[in-house]
This record gives sequence, C-alpha cells and structure tokens, in this order.
Amino acid sequence: MTALILDGKHVAKLTETSLAERVMVLRERSGGRTPVLATILVGEDPASATYVKMKGNACRRVGMESLAIELPATIKTNDLLRQIEELNNNPDVHGILLQHPVPAHIDERAAFDMISLDKDVDGVTCLGFGRMSMGESAYGCATPQGIMRLLAHYEIDLTGKHAVVVGRSPILGKPMAMMMLQANATVTICHSRTQDLKSHIAHADVIVGAVGRPEFIKAEWIKDGAVVVDAGYHPGGIGDIELGPLHERAQAITPVPGGVGPMTINTLIQQTVESGEKALGQTL
Ligand code: NAP
Repeated sequence: MTALILDGKHVAKLTETSLAERVMVLRERSGGRTPVLATILVGEDPASATYVKMKGNACRRVGMESLAIELPATIKTNDLLRQIEELNNNPDVHGILLQHPVPAHIDERAAFDMISLDKDVDGVTCLGFGRMSMGESAYGCATPQGIMRLLAHYEIDLTGKHAVVVGRSPILGKPMAMMMLQANATVTICHSRTQDLKSHIAHADVIVGAVGRPEFIKAEWIKDGAVVVDAGYHPGGIGDIELGPLHERAQAITPVPGGVGPMTINTLIQQTVESGEKALGQTL
C-alpha cells in the first residue's frame, strides 16, 4: 500500500483562490473595506515573529489587511488585556490573533479569554472551545480545525474510527480530540502520564501526533492502513511521528513540512474572512 499524501500546501492554495474572490466581492460591496486580522506579538521570540509574519503575508495574498501589534516582553497581563479589549471594540478589526506562547509571567489563559467570541478566529477561548465541543457554532482552534478540513478534503470519514490523539494541549490535542468526537470517531487521548502508550497507538485507525518531540512516535507502533496526522514540526523538516517507513504501510499521511502547517494559517485566514463577511455584511 502506498500512502495517500494529505497535501496541506495544495489544499491551502486552492482555498486561498476562493478566499481572494470572497474578499474582492466584499471589497466591492462595502466601499473598499476588507476583513482585518489584528496580530499581537508579545516579545521578540524569533519563531513567533516568523509565524506572525507568515500570517500577515497570508492575509495579503488573499487581498485583506492585517494590523500588526508588537508589544514588549515586559508587558503586564493587565496591559495586554486592555490592548485586546481595544481591539474587541474596534469595528475595523474582524479577527484577533494572540501569538502563542506569550512570556511566562503573562496569564495567557486570561489573555486568550479576553478575545470576544465573534473575533476569536484562532479558536483559543474557553467559550469557543466549549461551544465547539457542544456542537454549537464557534470558530475552531486553527491547527485542529485545519486538520479536520484536510481530512474532509480527502474524504476521510472518521465515523466509527478509533482516533488516538497523542497530546492534550489547549491549542491542539484537546480541541483535536473534541472535533474528532464531534465527527463520530471513538477517541483516546494520550499524554505524558499515559501508561503503555504503544498499546494505545497500536489500536489507532487514525493517529494524531501532537507531542512536540521529534519523531517520538515510532512507525512500528502504528498499524498498517492507519491514517497518520503529524502536527509536529522540528528543525530539519521532521515531525512528531517517524513517517518514513509509513509511506509504504499507511492509508494516508500528512507530510512534514507541507501537511498540517499550511492548513493552520489557512484556517485562521478563512475564519477571519468569515468574520469579516458577517461584520461587513451587516453594514452593506
Ligand atoms: P505542548 O503544549 O508542549 O503539548 C505537548 C503534549 O504532548 C502535552 O499534552 C504533553 O502531555 C504531551 N506529551 C509530552 N511528552 C509526552 C510523552 N512522553 N508521551 C505522551 N505524551 C507526551 O505542545 P503543542 O503546542 O500541543 O504542540 C505539539 C506539536 O505540534 C509540536 O511539535 C508543535 O511544534 C506542533 N504545532 C504545530 C502547529 C502547526 O501549525 N503546524 C501548531 C501548533 C503546534 P502533558 O499534558 O501530560 O504534559
């Protein structure tokens, strides 16, 4: 069996074409206005700065604007909350992205939860998570939502499948598990205290690696014919799963790079366009 490659780069590009058209229509109908994504970068972590820059570039590719806010690493939680509140109240801003992680002294959860639900296009608030888990409308957390979109594009149906998610972080593993549950998978969530991880993974029809350790999940732990989703990204272009040998045995694989990564940014942009359409649609 040769694994189907779940090509996130390709799917993101396809979506950008249709998003650019939607932004153009919106611009024509609203007197030149476009959706605006506000990006907040706290501190000078080079990787975070690169991600924020990539998100701004993706905005421009579909013809919409981004508002880059750069704050010093020394900022206090309260001042960050005030900044977010201003953006919540700014009618020209349709989506707010707070780049994770913020410096350790900041209460990141409080900052995420300050983002109003209608502008939570990165899907990071507790309210959004709760609504999504209950099957109510909310913007999905960008990385897991991007994974769901990628699986849907390749018509991979999760109904009745056993999905094993390794990782339970608020921005990845937890929302991933809830989304797969919503899609009628039977879900196992594994984490650093899980006993006998291998035996859980051995039963996975769908495995999601969201651990943050290079090639931590070994190919030999994964059964033939599984769908393999690798959310990890490490220097040298490797993920959290040892993908090499799985090209011959898996049903489908997300490549690293070019699988999950492009879908994350694409989902953020798509959800900002949706938010812009809702807000600007009301003013037409
Ligand atoms: P994280 O916050 O560090 O969470 C890692 C998770 O892995 C935790 O839940 C942790 O368990 C679990 N874990 C750690 N060691 C383990 C072990 N030995 N056995 C089983 N589970 C273990 O990381 P994250 O933000 O979720 O990111 C995970 C990966 O996804 C990273 O490689 C990151 O680079 C990547 N990522 C990619 C994108 C993208 O757009 N492509 C976006 C975000 C993240 P505990 O909860 O018990 O500590």
